[in-house]
Amino acid sequence: MRIDIITVVPELLSSPLNESILKRAQESGHAEIYVHNLRDYTDDKRRTVDDYPFGGEAGMVMKIEPVFRCIEKLKSERDYDEIIFTSPDGITYNQHEANRLSLMKNIIILCGHYKGIDYRIREHLITREISIGDYVLTGGELAACVIADSVVRIIPGAIGDEASALTDCFQDNLLAPPVYTRPAEFNGWKVPEVLLSGNFAEIEKWQEEQAWSRTKELRPDLIDGK
Ligand code: SAH
Repeated sequence: MRIDIITVVPELLSSPLNESILKRAQESGHAEIYVHNLRDYTDDKRRTVDDYPFGGEAGMVMKIEPVFRCIEKLKSERDYDEIIFTSPDGITYNQHEANRLSLMKNIIILCGHYKGIDYRIREHLITREISIGDYVLTGGELAACVIADSVVRIIPGAIGDEASALTDCFQDNLLAPPVYTRPAEFNGWKVPEVLLSGNFAEIEKWQEEQAWSRTKELRPDLIDGK
């Protein structure tokens, strides 16, 4: 899978996209992630990417032209399944959307900045608008990292222990059961007996029960499908 991220602050993206699973997924060829600096698509000496808003409100607005040039260039090189804009008024991001995106071949993620982006970009170039939650970030870069991370880790083969991604929270609309490691007792705090039993049928049953009871207690909305 290929992810092209368009931004005015490429520095914000380098470390989150180049460590741990994301790094390994790129090294093993499961994912390609490219960051494009919008200033490279300007045509003035000052490399201007923003301008004053019509109507005289406070704040600056991202200009159309650099975004248009960058997206058109990418589209001339390959087909894109989705051109995403990160935005607090988009659909709320969740595991279902991550799963959907992970099946795609090529996606673009456009990061907004400043007061926002000229609305015509959203009307004419964007195919999907995603919010990572009901709060306002300084820019879309952190949201793009959240999307890229959650999508890449579920590309088949990207994670070493593939089964591990399938038992994460939200797959099956359930929260994950608790996990423990050695020592079996620390400070008088014990690991549940069943996990030490070696009886895998019993362990699996316990994990399923835990997943259900934790979801019922902490996130009943997931079970009700609300
Ligand atoms: N004035 C805008 C917010 C601008 S914040 C408004 O009130 O809607 C600057 C940029 O940060 C946005 O264009 C968007 O790309 C990004 N951003 C902010 N909050 C976000 C969120 N919750 N999810 C995804 N992107 C977000």
